[in-house]
Amino acid sequence: ASRFADVKLGPPIEVFAVNKACVDDPHPDKVNLTIGAYRTDEGKPWVLPVVRKTERQMAADETLNHEYLPVLGLEAFSSAATSMLLGPDHPAIAEGRAFGVQTLSGTGALRVGAEFLSRQLKYSTFYMSNPSWENHRLVFFNAGFTEFREYRYWDAANRTIDFSGLIEDLKAAPENSVIILHACAHNPTGCDPTHEQWEKIADVIKEKKLFPFFDSAYQGFASGDLDKDAWAVRCFVSRGFELVCAQSFAKNFGLYNERVGNLTMVLKDKQFVPQVKSQVTLIVRGMYSNPPNHGGRIVSTVLNNPQLFEEWKECIRTMANRILSMRSGLKQRLQALGTPGTWDHITTQIGMFSYTGLTPRQVEHLVNHYHVYLLKSGRINMCGVTSHNIDYLAKAIHETVLL
Ligand code: PMP
Repeated sequence: ASRFADVKLGPPIEVFAVNKACVDDPHPDKVNLTIGAYRTDEGKPWVLPVVRKTERQMAADETLNHEYLPVLGLEAFSSAATSMLLGPDHPAIAEGRAFGVQTLSGTGALRVGAEFLSRQLKYSTFYMSNPSWENHRLVFFNAGFTEFREYRYWDAANRTIDFSGLIEDLKAAPENSVIILHACAHNPTGCDPTHEQWEKIADVIKEKKLFPFFDSAYQGFASGDLDKDAWAVRCFVSRGFELVCAQSFAKNFGLYNERVGNLTMVLKDKQFVPQVKSQVTLIVRGMYSNPPNHGGRIVSTVLNNPQLFEEWKECIRTMANRILSMRSGLKQRLQALGTPGTWDHITTQIGMFSYTGLTPRQVEHLVNHYHVYLLKSGRINMCGVTSHNIDYLAKAIHETVLL
């Protein structure tokens, strides 16, 4: 008998399963609104021009080689990533109590950060928003956390944040719970707290002795402005919190498959930094030993060169603006068609995703009758909307809602 005979079939990962169904669908009008990746108005993946240019320079540079990176990655990359998050002049950086660790994209940063909190700080309970990016749960359990809870986030009736529910749930959280917070462009709802609401969240986290774990997967993508999108993290750091933040460069650099990420850690005092770094080193050493070079070097080259940095910011604005124009285009069309319901949330929500409010039955109908693929929750990736399919999509949603 096979040793593997008793292995149970695991559940499929929804987003990949729905994407595959779309890719396999031969229908000429199909619309793929599943995976969170940017598409051009032609529906194609986009290699940022500044990335291509940097890759060409790297390919021609005979001084580069394929030696291992250090366990914590390229120092020039991680310090630039931390500066991008906190702002280059942030006192926490000058005081030597904030630092970065290069990781395997945002997911790897979440995992290394969670494993550190679980092993070294002995935290065992984590909270995520309901709903949240589904993978948070798996990553935190695999990192050693044992208690999972949710805080309310989405007010379905008003298609906005259930802020009083959120505060109530955080107030009821046991001390030392780790609270996962989306730094900007909340996935999947596209709804972020206001500045005032962030201040209140910070008050409760402080009062209840909770630990903030930020997840920053969309800096620059939400508003087109790196500083605006880092506001919440900077607010917490300025208020004196110790925290960690997982940063992904998948979306804002279009480097999805290069796995470029950074874990920023902010401590109260720099005297603890060497010990903390040594323990993170052991975690990484025992997990994957050291990170890959290619993507980290691209990002580091761009962030550390003022001219390339400006070119990159232009690329981010291009992506953010295309999404914004698709948002207003879709809303206008639904309103012009007189589609029942209110559609203002399509333009008030930000980032890649819109939580449409479509029900699971409506989603099924869109997939089966119109070949429009989206998640059961009604989440759509706005980047899948183009000037070629926007009329078709609006009409499909309209007819589906009318049923
Ligand atoms: N957090 C959130 C909220 C995300 O949406 C994503 C990407 N889907 C990630 C983290 C991590 O992505 P990656 O590992 O590709 O950087």
